[in-house]
Amino acid sequence: MKDVFTCDVCGLHYVNVKDAEECTKWCSSHNTCNLDIATRSIEARENRKKY
Ligand SMILES: [Zn+2]
Repeated sequence: MKDVFTCDVCGLHYVNVKDAEECTKWCSSHNTCNLDIATRSIEARENRKKY
């Protein structure tokens, strides 16, 4: 896998470092996942490919 960025809080992976930072910031202050950000994660993208 090429360079990916991980949210330290929820563990989702992002291609874009900005998305990972946004996710980490959101997760650590809200203790939930922001769906808008989570849909940009690699996990969400791969899930979408299956359907
Ligand atoms: Zn997160």
